[in-house]
Amino acid sequence: MERMFLVGEVEIYAIRDINLRIRKGEFVALMGPSGAGKSTTLNQLALLDRPTGGSLRILGKDVEKLTPKQQTAFRLNHLGFVFQNYNLLPQLTALENVLLPALMRGKNRRDAILEAKRLLEKFDMSNRLDNYPSQLSGGQQQKISIARALINKPSILFADEPTASLDSESSEVIMDLLRDLNKRDGQTIVLVSHESAHKKLVDRIIWVKDGVVVKKSYV
Ligand code: ADP
Ligand code: MG
Repeated sequence: MERMFLVGEVEIYAIRDINLRIRKGEFVALMGPSGAGKSTTLNQLALLDRPTGGSLRILGKDVEKLTPKQQTAFRLNHLGFVFQNYNLLPQLTALENVLLPALMRGKNRRDAILEAKRLLEKFDMSNRLDNYPSQLSGGQQQKISIARALINKPSILFADEPTASLDSESSEVIMDLLRDLNKRDGQTIVLVSHESAHKKLVDRIIWVKDGVVVKKSYV
């Protein structure tokens, strides 16, 4: 894959040549220094952005051939994304934030509420259903955001530095939660991280630098 940004007349290659394959059930981390192209890579994989070259297959589908509308539907049905800064809607409660992708997908409200409550209970958030994001700690907001990413049972969960805005205690809670999702439920997870403490939590590390993969290692 390649992703070039044109800034004025200057071509900036955020990704020069990223070549990788991720297996079902893997917990993979993209690691490397700031500016290496990790987020840009994740955004291509999660269909939040389009590569300017190369090809991308997800779940056996040539996703770059899909129209933007088809990509949005594919993302809603198969992919979940967790952002560093949670990206929750401030005017919705915790429960409503989690419900939203299920309702967008056309699930009936009662089933969606049951599933959202089940996830929030699993994450120890049952007593926070009616809280607004501003009433929750960073760690709690990130749990909501993970529940939201999971409500449509995505084949792949993406997370871009999900603990970078958290204190070390909440970081550990969130990383344990991701690890459990992978180990217990077999959730495929692609994580971007630059914290070396995360190395031991994942199955495999793809090291990125200057827009290329410099090393792949099992841990
Ligand atoms: P990382 O997540 O590893 O810190 P990024 O993927 O965010 O790195 O960025 C990789 C490189 O691409 C950086 O040099 C960054 O400045 C550049 N870049 C990212 N997005 C854009 C953009 N929209 N326009 C121009 N350059 C960008
Ligand atoms: Mg980044």
